[in-house]
This record gives sequence, structure tokens and C-alpha cells, in this order.
Amino acid sequence: MKQFRNNVIRAGLEALYFTGAHYLLRPIFAGVGAIFMLHHVRPRRDAQFQPNRHLEVAPEFLRAMLAHLRSRDIDIITMDEVRRRLVEREFSRRFACFTLDDGYRDNRNFALPVMREFDAPSTVYIASDFAQGTGRLWWIALEMVIAKASFIDVAIGGAVTRLDTGTPAAKQAAFDRLHDWLRGLPGEHDIQHEIGALCARHGVDETAICRELCMSWDELKPFADDPLITIGAHTITHCNLARQPEEIAAREMALSRARIEDALQRPVVHLAYPYGDRIAAGPREFALAHAAGYKTAVTTRPGMMFPENAGHLTALPRVSLNGNYQDTRILPVLTSGAATAMWNGFRRIDAA
Ligand SMILES: [Zn+2]
Repeated sequence: MKQFRNNVIRAGLEALYFTGAHYLLRPIFAGVGAIFMLHHVRPRRDAQFQPNRHLEVAPEFLRAMLAHLRSRDIDIITMDEVRRRLVEREFSRRFACFTLDDGYRDNRNFALPVMREFDAPSTVYIASDFAQGTGRLWWIALEMVIAKASFIDVAIGGAVTRLDTGTPAAKQAAFDRLHDWLRGLPGEHDIQHEIGALCARHGVDETAICRELCMSWDELKPFADDPLITIGAHTITHCNLARQPEEIAAREMALSRARIEDALQRPVVHLAYPYGDRIAAGPREFALAHAAGYKTAVTTRPGMMFPENAGHLTALPRVSLNGNYQDTRILPVLTSGAATAMWNGFRRIDAA
């Protein structure tokens, strides 16, 4: 019996730690709330090679998350309200805020209906070139090239390297390698140049990807009219801002805002930094976002909200709902108190 309990607790803790679910736990038991980050929301696909799968969750997982938050009586609020609570130091109730990056059409088709079931608001961050139909989603282009190819020749560091892409495992390894290589290139056009060449060689229509996946301005107009939706900015081209000269970074932030406001006829006061990690957004970008008039800006740095975040409204952390870990059984464990009980159990066993 004891062995059984040990196994249960070990499995539970492993689930917490190795799924990243402890990030879900912390906003509930520590801090005053959390801003959740999503990209795609759509039904699961069967393909074995899905290197961007961490960027999508199934509607059922989102529903489970929302049901869970509601059952815990946690407020689900807009970015405006996040800002208000931080600024006015109103922390009597815990909160969650849902944000979706890039403006994918599945946000309208799959996320919004689920959010409606719970009367839950969300903020969708738009890259204006994506809405224009001219954006370049290179990480998806790379996926499509590798999915088609059985090998890829690519000049990395001056030498042509042949990467095997014949099996799902080889495809994943090639994707990881090329993704890291591309993100490490000095400029945005270096990425676009290399991806453009790969797409041309392997017969992938890169320009179609954006139009196929992202909402156009015409689609965004009625979407933005929904009272549950807030539209935020996500730059013009979805570039790594920290790699741009300051004038370009400032322009990406200010002009994307102006374009979205002009197209959708509503104020845009919230920003999400593309990529949003330490190599894409730092103190310079936080200051530029503030100077551009944004009331808040979110990163992809992991973390929950604390009262201290009021002093850093253009550098807010988020909690990723990662598509690789959509185990709904974990959600109730996290916030029912079972997690703390489990932790106590672990200590008891540890001391024995
Ligand atoms: Zn993005």
C-alpha cells in the first residue's frame, strides 16, 4: 500500500515538474494572477511530425482550463483590467487573463466559441503584415519544407550540409537544428532569404501560409467587434525587435499600432513582443513600448503576476499553455489543494 502511494505521489510530482505544470500551479498558489499565452487553438492532428505543436492546444484543453479556473472562482479578466488591478493594487481576488499571439483564424473558429461558453475575454495580438496577407511565418514554412523533403542541403556556416529528413525523428532533428540556426542569424532578412531559398527549392508556397492561417482585415473587423475580444499589436513584420536598430524597432511598434487602429477603428494599447524571450525583448524594447504609448506589453518570459509587476507594465511575464503538455487530468490536481497535499505527502515519505 505504501509502495502504491509512493508511486502515485512520484507520478504526480513528475507530472508537475516534467510537464511544466508547476508553472500552472504557481499563479494559483503564489502571486496575484497569471496571463496565459496561447497561439493556435484547433483540433489535434494526426501527423507524426508536428514540430510547432507546442504552439497549439486543442479546444477541449482550453475548455478544461477555463472550467477549472471558474470552479476555483478565479476571475478571468481583460488586459485593461489586469493593468487596472496592478496599478490600483487591487488584489483581493486572483485573476487569469488569456492572450493569443499572431491572429490565427482558428482563434475565431475554435477559441472564441469556447471562451464564450465561460463568458471569458481574451486579447489577440495581431502582426499587421499577417492581417495584410503578406506576412512570413518562417517557422511554419520550415515545417512544410521538412515535411515534404527526404533530405535537405543547406549552407550552414559556409559549408553545405546534407540533413536527413526521411523519417519523423530525422525531420524533428533537422527542424530543431535549422530552427536554432535561423534564429541565430544576424538579421531578419537573413532568415527570410534562407527560408525563401528552401521554399523555392522544395516547392513550398510561402506566401500562401499567411493567408491560409491568419485572419485578414475583413475577418478581423467583425472579430474585433465581439465584446469578449481585445485586439493588441504584435509589430508589423513579426521581427525580433532586439535585433533591429532602434529606429526600426520603434517603427515596428508605433506603425503596427497605427495600422491596426486605422483598419479596425479602435484604440490599440496592448503589445506582445514577437518571440518575446530574452533575445527578442529586453530593457530597450520595454522602454520603446512605453514611449510608443502602450499601456501594457507582454513577453514570453515565464512567470506569474506579482504586485511588483505594476512597476514594469511593458515587461509582463506569461504562462504558456504548451501544446506538448495537454493533460487535463493535471488541472484539478493543481488547484484543488491536492498538489499541496501531495507535496506534504512527499515530505512525509522523504523523512521516513
Ligand atoms: Zn508571434
